[in-house]
Amino acid sequence: MLEGALKILNQFSVNGYEGYIVGGYVRDHLLNKKGKDIDITTNCLPETVRDLFDDNFYQSAKFKTVTVRIDGFQYEVTTYRTDMHYSDHRHPKTKVAKSLKSDVKRRDFTCNAICMDKNMTIIDYVGGVQDVKNNIIRCVGNPYRRFNEDALRMLRAFRFASRLNFVIEKKTYNAIKRNAHSMQYVSKERIRDELSKMLLEPYFKDNLKLMIESGILRGMPDTLKALEILNANYMDINIIDLFALASFIKKEPISSEFIMSRKELKFIDEVLRYAKKLIKKNIESRDLLELNEEALGVALKVLTILGQCYYKKEDIMLLYNTLPIKSEKELAINGLDIKKAFSLDDSPIIKEYVDKAIDAVLFYGVKNTKTALIKYLKEGKNE
Ligand code: ATP
Ligand code: MG
Repeated sequence: MLEGALKILNQFSVNGYEGYIVGGYVRDHLLNKKGKDIDITTNCLPETVRDLFDDNFYQSAKFKTVTVRIDGFQYEVTTYRTDMHYSDHRHPKTKVAKSLKSDVKRRDFTCNAICMDKNMTIIDYVGGVQDVKNNIIRCVGNPYRRFNEDALRMLRAFRFASRLNFVIEKKTYNAIKRNAHSMQYVSKERIRDELSKMLLEPYFKDNLKLMIESGILRGMPDTLKALEILNANYMDINIIDLFALASFIKKEPISSEFIMSRKELKFIDEVLRYAKKLIKKNIESRDLLELNEEALGVALKVLTILGQCYYKKEDIMLLYNTLPIKSEKELAINGLDIKKAFSLDDSPIIKEYVDKAIDAVLFYGVKNTKTALIKYLKEGKNE
């Protein structure tokens, strides 16, 4: 991957342009970690980047970035820029910048602002190398101003701390506390995005308390409460688990705090249904029909975090495996059979009969055959 990036830098150089690797890749390289992707910054304008790499690109409208493909790898090439911030805390006006230095200055943290040239020489305008060495997250420039410009950076600080096992430097942390209120300007989509990445980072657990104390989640009281409980009884969770936990505590989906798709909300409904049964210790065969094993797993996790889990998943699965039918579809009779056998019109009674038949098979040992079930329904007796 690095080889292709160096080719790009060389191509810039022979054509009289500057080009540097910047951001996460350089940081991870200094930490002897494998980088995920390579970002390149250059003084070459996007149109010219396209000309230099003819077929091997496609352009994204976002931030004038050109994606260059070399040997199957993709490189995000962005022209030097500075961001002029408006007072709405979120819509920067982006301007092309002349120098690498000004491009570096608009970046969030020193560890993310180190550059590397085509000879793999490090160029560091912000003391990033030292901070990486000392495992520190520090804002580039005045932290108060930087968080005020874009409040999402506060979440990013905790995400990088959680990922790299770095400590957020004191001034930077204090600036987060003082800017906590400006989280209200960050869109729910961006918050969800950052939070879901952060939860999966290896050192999230170690940063959770600090994030709670920083106050940045004050505007999301239900999520905050769930994270406080998680902090007291920690388990690895993902964004869906968090949503389920917060929703279970609140007794309704917490959709006002972050965006969920319709499919996810349906899944959460299932989780809540299981959790309500499990917490009352009255889960039974019938609740396991049409089992959604994944939702059951999340429900058990939610209750474990709450210290109120009385079941083991294995035991529930054992019960499930003994069920003579595992879904209504497996019942030997359906609504139509009942309609015929009892000459019924479409009516709620048919549904009642189906339910009775299910109970008969699950609880009363009635054989799951058409004759046995019709006989049972007609005479109320087992064969
Ligand atoms: P990852 O390995 O997760 O991709 P990364 O450091 O590459 O980490 P990105 O989110 O991909 O992070 O961003 C690329 C670079 O762009 C960052 O390293 C940083 O320099 C800059 N950047 C991204 N988001 C912001 C922001 N909100 N404010 C300032 N700079 C940012
Ligand atoms: Mg990146």
